[in-house]
Amino acid sequence: MAAGLSRRRVIGAGIGIGAGIAVGTMGGAAAHTTGSGPAVAITGTTVIDATGARPLRDVTVLVRGGRIATIGTAREVRVPADADVVDGRGKFVVPGFIDSHVHGSGQEEIDPPLFLVNGVTTVRDMNGHARLYEWRDRVAAGTLFGPRSVVASGIVDGDPSLLAGLGSPYVEVANAREARAAVRQAVADGADFIKVYARLTPDAYHAIAHECRKLGVTFVGHTPDAIPLAEASAAGQRSFEHIYTSWFDTSSQEKEIRRRLAKIRVGGGEYNSWFNQTHPLEVLAARTFDPARARQVFGRLAADGSHQVPTLTQHRVFDLPESVAVHDDRLRYLPAATRNGWQAQLEQLYLAGRSAKDVAEHRELFRARLHWISAAHRAGVPVLAGTDTGTAYVYPGFSLHDELENLVEAGFSPMQALQAATSAPARFLGLPDVGTVRRNAIADLAVLDADPLADIRNTKRIHAVIVGGKLINAGQREHLLSAIETAANTGTLPARLAGCACTPALAAA
Ligand SMILES: [Zn+2]
Ligand SMILES: [Zn+2]
Repeated sequence: MAAGLSRRRVIGAGIGIGAGIAVGTMGGAAAHTTGSGPAVAITGTTVIDATGARPLRDVTVLVRGGRIATIGTAREVRVPADADVVDGRGKFVVPGFIDSHVHGSGQEEIDPPLFLVNGVTTVRDMNGHARLYEWRDRVAAGTLFGPRSVVASGIVDGDPSLLAGLGSPYVEVANAREARAAVRQAVADGADFIKVYARLTPDAYHAIAHECRKLGVTFVGHTPDAIPLAEASAAGQRSFEHIYTSWFDTSSQEKEIRRRLAKIRVGGGEYNSWFNQTHPLEVLAARTFDPARARQVFGRLAADGSHQVPTLTQHRVFDLPESVAVHDDRLRYLPAATRNGWQAQLEQLYLAGRSAKDVAEHRELFRARLHWISAAHRAGVPVLAGTDTGTAYVYPGFSLHDELENLVEAGFSPMQALQAATSAPARFLGLPDVGTVRRNAIADLAVLDADPLADIRNTKRIHAVIVGGKLINAGQREHLLSAIETAANTGTLPARLAGCACTPALAAA
């Protein structure tokens, strides 16, 4: 318990000082290995700080000691002679991106640099284990070049768990006593927060909520089958991942849906069975969305500060597998074991045996998910951009940009989408010095070749990245990408660890 609290302080301190500490290797690119490195100046550029304020045009951003030293006109800012200068004319500086739902693979040569070259400078990892706690601590100490991370417990599920035998870290709890013990153990192991899952009983769930409150630890995760969304929010759950059972609360048929949901029986590891049994209930919920009920539920979430992390990128793969690009150019950055696992999963689980009715219903569900998250957002529910990276065809780093596009498709403005990946998660994670561009903030920045407010797809047009004050310029970025590709194809890397939803045993095969 105390371990968790002190670890939080350690992380906070790490972010404060880590910015000034040298990073290790940069895949051969010039890394500054002592002190805080030289100053970096981005000259004559446009700054979008993601507060909603108007862009600042024709300014110079000076970074020193890992932080933004100043932002001003060419006349106001003196660029030191030894500074690394990025010509920012025609370019746009935005905060480094935060992916609020990832599953690290444990492949050190792949994930950390892949996040960084894509401008993702902070991640929230949603299924913790020793390797990921080690990454987090090494990044904070400046000995691993990767995104800052905030890392969950192993997933805490009911007994039997949907994840049993699927190769993903989890703990099964059958009752309140086991639930409390799991929370204490996770905190002792180094978790920053607790992640709950689908099959928890109400007793176990509320014991987790109580234990977390007692220890001052946040808990987040899936909306359990047995707990309505509003009840979970009132119990203290602060983020809700995906849109599976979350939208049952907003259906005019909620009673009927819950009656049928309570009858669902799922054996250990039978994730597909769970999907198959909940599918008709999802269709019913989507078709019976009730604006009046939604107003109540969304009002409750907004008042509690309970966030939604819809992971639309992952839903798109699962709902619309026909549209997945199996020869996607980004696959080159992943090991063969991962590529093969994803392909097997796509063919054998997502596409196999799909009827025309299935295809049509899943298309309808995806549209309805966009509609639902948009309605929640308009009603004041805070939304975070998260991808579920690590599940099939959801790519570390790259996919965060897909999620921004999905949010805009749902109805977010480009600024609102940017905020869901910068200022909003920074606030949520208790990292006030990242997720923005202002004097004294930590210098986690992306420099874009085109205006993301004109077209959100422009966040993909990354020219350079600055993380903790360290510049990855255009040349170094290319070098890092080819180093990742080489690592992926040397054949020694293991398959990825399985993520959460939709990552059944095949991925480990
Ligand atoms: Zn996940
Ligand atoms: Zn999940």
